Amino acid sequence: MPRRTSVCFVACTHGDEPIGKETMERLSLTPAAALFDYVIGNPKALAGGKRYLEADLNRSAPGRAKGKAYEERRAFELMRQFKPYRYVVDLHETRANDRMILILMKLTPRTLALASAFPVADILYWPSGKPTGPLTQFVPRGLEVESGTKTSFGKTQRKLQRVLKVFLKNLDLIPAQEKALRRKTALPKGKRFFHVYATIDPQEVTDPSKLRDFRPARSRQGERFVALLFGKFAGLTGYKMRLMDAADVARHREP
Ligand SMILES: [Zn+2]
Repeated sequence: MPRRTSVCFVACTHGDEPIGKETMERLSLTPAAALFDYVIGNPKALAGGKRYLEADLNRSAPGRAKGKAYEERRAFELMRQFKPYRYVVDLHETRANDRMILILMKLTPRTLALASAFPVADILYWPSGKPTGPLTQFVPRGLEVESGTKTSFGKTQRKLQRVLKVFLKNLDLIPAQEKALRRKTALPKGKRFFHVYATIDPQEVTDPSKLRDFRPARSRQGERFVALLFGKFAGLTGYKMRLMDAADVARHREP
């Protein structure tokens, strides 16, 4: 994939999430095609209709050239391919809900400015805290877009296409945003930040089936949190988030 633009989209980092590929193929037929390149994250998993083959690609970055699992080697290869790009946007999908959110692994002027270019209000701040993790954790200006396709794949796919078009139209505004956001108290406008900070232990809630995605919940011990449910992985009830205020965002920011 020779570089033509400043943007690299990643589709199908998870092989069972077709929305990215579909959207890239459609967007490639429009004039916006001149503004981006894209890569299929996990082509082997996509071909096999699986999330991954040997390891979750989105937990395998930065990868290893001679790693044991295919995904470790693929993550390493992708990191090299991302190098010439200013922005890396990884497109994910969930069938658990119908919302569209952005996921940032770190809060920096660069990631915040990138997020500001998307017409998406809700941002999850989800630091992995591990040496291996999501692809976009290891690029300076990267984020994930997660699109919910529970009710309608087609409707969400068209929405994602519109969102990416707006992002591409906003590209030239990002550098100035980045500069403005270097002030520690500055925040992108019109966004809500949620800090994903723990998994939910099913033992600590009275009735896990009563939890609702993005709704307030309370543990037996009285801890208040907002539930984040994906409903996809067996054995995992979901995650705990808290709504961040400006001071929280400032506290978690890195240079
Ligand atoms: Zn995914």
